Amino acid sequence: MTQAVTVRAPAKINLYLGVGPVREDGFHPLATVYQAIGLYDDVTVTPAEQWEIHTVADAGIDLAAVPDDEDNIAIRAGKALVAHHHRPELAAHVEIHKGIPVAGGMGGGSADAAATLVAVDRLFDLNTSDDDLLAIAAELGSDVPFALIGGTAIGTGRGEIVEPVVDTTQCWWVVVPHEIGLSTPLVYKHFDMMVAEELLEAFQPAIPQSLLGDLATGDVLTLTPDLENDLAAAAYDLRPDLVELRERLERLWPDAVLLSGSGPTQLALFADRDAARIAAGTLSQEGLTHWLAPGPVAGCTVIDYS
Ligand code: ATP
Repeated sequence: MTQAVTVRAPAKINLYLGVGPVREDGFHPLATVYQAIGLYDDVTVTPAEQWEIHTVADAGIDLAAVPDDEDNIAIRAGKALVAHHHRPELAAHVEIHKGIPVAGGMGGGSADAAATLVAVDRLFDLNTSDDDLLAIAAELGSDVPFALIGGTAIGTGRGEIVEPVVDTTQCWWVVVPHEIGLSTPLVYKHFDMMVAEELLEAFQPAIPQSLLGDLATGDVLTLTPDLENDLAAAAYDLRPDLVELRERLERLWPDAVLLSGSGPTQLALFADRDAARIAAGTLSQEGLTHWLAPGPVAGCTVIDYS
């Protein structure tokens, strides 16, 4: 019998995040281009009498907001998978090692849910089909299906309908987290207040074809004008401290700065690792916490199995 499975799941960013007016079910229609980047959470599962969770983190990641009980999305994922197979007697201890900032707009909880689905599937030899895994993932959260597949993908619906796209770029991201997280629902509420009235009822967000063309040809430098995030105005309006940080980054690297999802993490894009390393050196001198991450990277991957 398998004793432990470890799955690594990447952070996501949104190269483009188009948001439409709130739907009747409370969700917003999205047209987004996700990219998985090289910051990871590792999830290890081992058989247990009942569902349990323990979380540790890399330096600079605050775990205070991460639930240590059944509210943790990783536990919800594990339970959803065994329920799907009508195997309620199965349970696991879930150990999360977080390298993705919490409430950072980088889909950390979604990554944990996706990793737990894959890990529990392998631990108990459940042989879940890809289609079923994606469907269970979509029920858990809009970003969870993308965490399963990784790479670069278009997300539509509320973000849960994912379709891989050709991306031959080799992006290097300098990731600048913020110690105070931002609640995604709060940012959407503020978005509704600020801009939704101005949106025509029938408006549906759409992905710029030029972005898809740039990804296919692989020219990182031509990407920057197409990077866009409709949630940015709401996030910056809620958090003036982030505007200061953005202006500081933009003074260094005009046009290359992007807010990750609903924030507060900010990103700067570089065409090669040397340029990103020089940029990281500048941030070190300014005393700003940062990480370097390549993109695109693979989705959930089994990295240890015993
Ligand atoms: P979103 O995917 O909504 O953009 P995010 O990336 O900004 O979210 P997450 O790190 O996923 O933020 O956390 C959002 C909230 O989810 C946290 O504040 C926390 O209360 C809750 N949560 C539940 N499970 C987890 C988990 N495994 N890791 C992190 N947060 C979790």
